[in-house]
Amino acid sequence: MADQSFVTLATNDSYVKGALVLGSSLQQHRTTRKLTALITPQVSDSMREVLEKVFDEVILVNILDSGDSAHLALMKRPELGVTLTKLHCWELTQFSKCVFMDADTMVLSNIDELFEREELSAAPDPGWPDCFNSGVFVYRPSIETYNQLLQFATEKGSFDDPIIGRCILGCRFKRPLTPAPRLWSYICADQGLLNTFFSSWATTDMNKHLPFIYNLSSTSVYSYLPAFKAFGANTKVVHFLGSRKPWNYTYDSKTKSIKGNMDDPKVVHPEFLNMWWDTYMTNILPLLEQHGIAKEATTGVNMAEVTEAVSHMSVSTPSPVLPTISSEERKERWEQGQADYMGMDSFDNIKKKLDSYLQ
Ligand code: UDP
Ligand code: MN
Repeated sequence: MADQSFVTLATNDSYVKGALVLGSSLQQHRTTRKLTALITPQVSDSMREVLEKVFDEVILVNILDSGDSAHLALMKRPELGVTLTKLHCWELTQFSKCVFMDADTMVLSNIDELFEREELSAAPDPGWPDCFNSGVFVYRPSIETYNQLLQFATEKGSFDDPIIGRCILGCRFKRPLTPAPRLWSYICADQGLLNTFFSSWATTDMNKHLPFIYNLSSTSVYSYLPAFKAFGANTKVVHFLGSRKPWNYTYDSKTKSIKGNMDDPKVVHPEFLNMWWDTYMTNILPLLEQHGIAKEATTGVNMAEVTEAVSHMSVSTPSPVLPTISSEERKERWEQGQADYMGMDSFDNIKKKLDSYLQ
């Protein structure tokens, strides 16, 4: 099975933590496939060394160094940076088939059977089930497909203003790139692009519809608790989709639980978060300590990344600061599907806000 691999991506040291937990969880469940991590130059050398302990291959991808078409695409559309980075996974032609997994996923059992599926197989998105969620997908590396995707992204993909966060390709609102509530970025991400490119997913072949248990969003635990109670025990992959990632929580190693505000449903239903942290503390922290980089292992925000995110935003979005954006809490509720539709988040208010950006 040397020609098949699980593939993930990390563009900074925080996401590397996620990639490490993912890689370790795949090993724990005895995958027979290779593990590959794509990283960008922002990842520190020491984190890269740790990644090399867990992954068979750690591959540096730099969109600016890559082939002409990718470079050209980025010149025309700089806001596509992160999206195009994920597309690099199609370049891994040393493998005949791969399963891409976001760095904020972890496996709870062996999922090697996914390699029996064909491109493009993925599970429904919990927010819009006619779209697949791009956090877990089966694909076939191919330079031809890679180039087609790039071309598609730059030419056919007609995105709306990324500040507004709507894009005619149907992408999701993205999380704010920094913990500061006023700084939002709604950069169009890979999901809308991939769903438009592989547009027959919703209607043609049920074999390409992975069961939801292969990409169970951690928010589904509380957004559909009865279903979770009925089927949750079969979960194979959990996806910590959304603004707050496991590594942004603080973990108390004495009580073996995460700390947090009881208004946060992920804290009220912390089963998966605690599993993530358990894997992190048991398998990853010792590796980080060996490399002398475990200082902020159990704390949340990394200021270096805040700076990185802010500088990134100033490049990718013309005016990322929204003057009257709501509180952090309101944002979290919105992302969890608990919008105040009759009040502050009413259609009229949202429309007014969007109109004000379009002027
Ligand atoms: N990613 C990354 N750095 C970033 C943002 C994203 O490396 O700053 C990668 C990472 O693999 C991540 C994936 O892109 O899991 C998709 O982003 P994310 O998981 O944050 O989006 P969500 O699943 O919450 O929509
Ligand atoms: Mn994700």
